[in-house]
Formats: sequence, structure tokens, C-alpha cells
Amino acid sequence: MNIKIAHLYPDLLNLYGDRGNIACLKKRLEWRGIGAEIVRCTCDDESFNLSDTDIIFIGGGSDREQKIVCSKLLRHKDELREYVENNGVLAAVCGGYQLLGKYYKLEDETIEGLDILDIYTEQGKKRLIGNVVLESEYTDGKIVGFENHGGRTYIGGHTPLGKVVYGSGNDDKSGYEGVVYKNVVATYLHGPLLPKNPPLCDRILTNALKRKYPDFKELPPLNDALEIVANEYIANRFKK
Ligand code: GLN
Repeated sequence: MNIKIAHLYPDLLNLYGDRGNIACLKKRLEWRGIGAEIVRCTCDDESFNLSDTDIIFIGGGSDREQKIVCSKLLRHKDELREYVENNGVLAAVCGGYQLLGKYYKLEDETIEGLDILDIYTEQGKKRLIGNVVLESEYTDGKIVGFENHGGRTYIGGHTPLGKVVYGSGNDDKSGYEGVVYKNVVATYLHGPLLPKNPPLCDRILTNALKRKYPDFKELPPLNDALEIVANEYIANRFKK
């Protein structure tokens, strides 16, 4: 078995080392004897091709970088939407999450989004920065992470990734964080999200393996004792 991971615009969207998530996806496949191929789709690379892609990852970036990426990605809007509607697996973080929506409204301009999710984002007055703990039906245990965003994302009727136990979440008011839609997981949680949350990483990998290999059942467990201790430590440290 082999999984192909497309990392979109790592040259522009890689705040807080979001690419650590790619290393985690790859390593957790290899530890189970499954091949992993990483394709870096950089800004000046025109060979964008999703036909044999199993997982797309989009990281976060500043508003400036997001704008550049968006102008590139809009050319692939239909292809991306078709991929998602075809149950393609996509993980998007922060700026990447915002780009999946209808638009991101800044003080003096509006960045058009890919319109893959029926959500929109508006810039708020203060940035929402800090640790986050989520309760989520999507994975076992709590999801922990770090957020830093000026945008408030309104997800309408979409299913959130989790309920905020600690932190601000999508819009600082609703008490929810992220979106799960088909095989898309979109979240404000930055940096080493997947190393901090192995069950979330495995859920994403399982979605990709099931889509590609219909007979695939489940991933064999790994020894995540240390990761689980670290995750629980953070979940216990940050409580309301
Ligand atoms: N530029 C976006 C915001 O501030 C996303 C930032 C990020 O990816 N950290 O809301």
C-alpha cells in the first residue's frame, strides 16, 4: 500500500512548522509498513495534479501569503471541489482553513475563497492567541493545540471538529472549533497538531486508506504512550 500526500504551498503556508504534520503522517504510515510519497506543490510549480492524490495538506500563513496562495488556488477551484466531493482527504490549518470558505473579509479588502465549505471569515479586532483544548466526537480523547488568528470563522450548518473546552475556537463566541465535512478536517490549530494528537492523525490516514483500498479495515495500533501522556498533560493543564 502507498499513500500520496500533496503539501500545498509549503513555501508560503508554514507558520509554526505546520509541515511537522506532514512528517507525522508519513512516519505513522511507514511505522506500519505503508509507503508514503510527499509531493510539495510550491508557488511557482504549475504541475498541479490531484488525480492520484490521497491526502492534501494546507497549512497556515499571514494574510499577505494567504492572498498570494489564494490567487494560485482559485485556478484549481473546480478540481479541488471535485476532489472533496469525491471523498478526497484534505487537512487544512488556519489560513488554509479560511481559504476553503466563501471569503475572508479584512478591514480594507476581501480575499475570495475556494467555496468548498459553506463558511466565511471576517477579521476581528484582536487576535485570538493561545492554547486550545477540544472535546471531539471525531477522535478518542481530547484534541490539544495552539491557535493564533485574527479571523473569526462562521461555519453555519457545518459540523465542527470539536467543542472548545479551553481557548477561543472558530469565532470566539460559538464555543466550537474547526469543521469536519466528508473527508475534510479544517481547524485553527497550528504547528504540530498531528504529533500532539495521534488519534486525529490516524483518523486522517484511515480515511485515505479506506478511500484508496476499499478492503482496508484499520491501522494496527502503535505505542503512543508518550504522546498520550503529553496530550493528557496539556488537556489537564488548560481547563476553564
Ligand atoms: N491570516 C489569518 C488570520 O490571522 C490566518 C493566520 C494563520 O494562519 N495563523 O486569521
